[in-house]
Amino acid sequence: MCYREKVDIKSRGFMDFSLFKETVEHIEKSGFKFFGLKLSWLGEPLMHPEIEKILKTLLNKTFFQNLVIDTNVSYLSESVTDILSCFSVPVFVFLSIDGSTKEIYEKIRVGGDFDNIEKNIKYICQNKCSNVFLRFQYILMDENIDYTQHFIEWVTKIAGKLNIFFEEQTVLKDNYIFFRKLIKPGFETECDFLWNEFRLKFESQNKSVEENKVKLKCCENLWSMAIIRFNGQVGVCNLDPEMSLCIGNINQENFTDIWLGDKAQKMRINHINGIYPDKCKNCRALKCNISAQIINDWAQLLKS
Ligand code: SF4
Repeated sequence: MCYREKVDIKSRGFMDFSLFKETVEHIEKSGFKFFGLKLSWLGEPLMHPEIEKILKTLLNKTFFQNLVIDTNVSYLSESVTDILSCFSVPVFVFLSIDGSTKEIYEKIRVGGDFDNIEKNIKYICQNKCSNVFLRFQYILMDENIDYTQHFIEWVTKIAGKLNIFFEEQTVLKDNYIFFRKLIKPGFETECDFLWNEFRLKFESQNKSVEENKVKLKCCENLWSMAIIRFNGQVGVCNLDPEMSLCIGNINQENFTDIWLGDKAQKMRINHINGIYPDKCKNCRALKCNISAQIINDWAQLLKS
């Protein structure tokens, strides 16, 4: 069910705290500004043995506008919740819970402890500050599809009035429930592209967007999505668990030299010119053309 399964089991781990701290300090000093910072890619961030030190290191940093924690709630302790409430930027906490009874939850999340996650959810709902936004994520599957109403009632009882979304959007709303598509074997990929489908549908219904679109097909991830893995590898795409689009490693070079280096810039210029790496050739993200203005801005940046 999880995209994480596509990551080689031998290639998973925790980033060394000193490497994390050094990199954060370097990025802050270099003047980069990222829209968001997510503390994991395809794993559980709160399992990191030094997660509280990591969060405290980020408290006063200004290179990101919001923080995202994607968690299965098992490790969302009271002390972690208290630190999250100290951030001055918005903190989005995505709580992945696929069952609202002990029986269903523990059947789906083998090894999970329903009483523990219920306790953690109650604590964050009752103690979070107004800068912390919760999203309850419920992936529909055979085991839980008949319990959807029960899930809504259970979360509503804990978290109060809720909005319910069926498509992914980053919105500053109060607590909300987010449902993902029913996943059955063979449909996992479609599920990952829900958001793009939504965007394509929006664009095809909106004539002015359609008319203004340039014909170039170029993926914005190459400019906006820096991924740093636990082992220092730097990538540009969250749909690349094999890291085939790796542009360097922060154990060998600093982040600035990698992000603005020859390998990364060549990949971007090639994309602008329609020369794609194998990974990108059939990617549906290319169908979501970006605006002419953005391409111009990027082209200027590459020239400078
Ligand atoms: S085109 Fe697809 S595979 Fe390539 S960088 Fe963009 S999202 Fe990733």
